[in-house]
Amino acid sequence: MTATSWHGGELRQDPLTGDWSVLAPHRARRPHTGAVGCPFCPGPSEDTPPETWRLPAPGGGWLVRSVRNRYALSDHHEVIIESPRHDWDLATGTDAEAANVLLAWRDRLRALRTDAAQVAVFRNRGAAAGTSLDHPHSQVVGLPVLSASARRELSAQRERYERQGRPYTGEVSDTSRVVLDDGQTVAFAPFAPTAEFEVRVAPRRPAADFAGVSTGELTSAAATVRAMLRALRDELGDPPYNLFLHTAPSGLEHAPWLCWSMRIVPRLAVPAGLELATGIPVVTTMPEDAARRLRARAAIPAVPPA
Ligand SMILES: [Zn+2]
Repeated sequence: MTATSWHGGELRQDPLTGDWSVLAPHRARRPHTGAVGCPFCPGPSEDTPPETWRLPAPGGGWLVRSVRNRYALSDHHEVIIESPRHDWDLATGTDAEAANVLLAWRDRLRALRTDAAQVAVFRNRGAAAGTSLDHPHSQVVGLPVLSASARRELSAQRERYERQGRPYTGEVSDTSRVVLDDGQTVAFAPFAPTAEFEVRVAPRRPAADFAGVSTGELTSAAATVRAMLRALRDELGDPPYNLFLHTAPSGLEHAPWLCWSMRIVPRLAVPAGLELATGIPVVTTMPEDAARRLRARAAIPAVPPA
């Protein structure tokens, strides 16, 4: 059995499945919303570990900043505080604000992966999706191992490339599942979704590495993700969700058979026995229907800048 003492806890590998688990008892002590003051809001209650990155605001202060996670899962675990405003949200902010958040994702991914086999970049919204603090934030975690699901996905992508000669970029020949396509980034409901109203976002021009995207690609991806979150919010009433990045692990940044993507997984149902027994999700909304409903919502213009 494989176990390593790791960052105040343990990293253990299941001998049956090869899957890794992080055991982090210190995480149970992290504060939840409802405590006095918000540690991420600028002002007297602000209480964060050292800052690692910031996007300065014109005239002083910051637009987005990254700090070490006080209840870190690894030596490389940061919290990206997405806005000084407690009530800001990625779904209802401006496209420019969304682009600033993805800029932080790209820059912290670049910084943290030098010491990691895999870097997870994600945003949780709502208690059912695992959020413990309301202030808008995302997280970047460098891991010393490549997860079993990442390995599976890498080999599937490589096999697909060998069969078809090009990487999977999210191109969908069946346009009934496309929600939004600006020519640079496409958002679509996947053919075999893992959750109700799952949405994936991928670049039209294949690229393995999100850390290498240009400003133009970043701007397009941010506007697409923001529009999809807004559409989901309008259609489903601010559902809890996880948004996460799939990108090349260290060493495969230039793999021609890989393409980065983002996934938005609403948390509308609790995984039940069949899911846990087999790993096969049961989804009651057809992706074609989800795409049609989100397309109608995405046609609504963006919220104007405040
Ligand atoms: Zn706050």
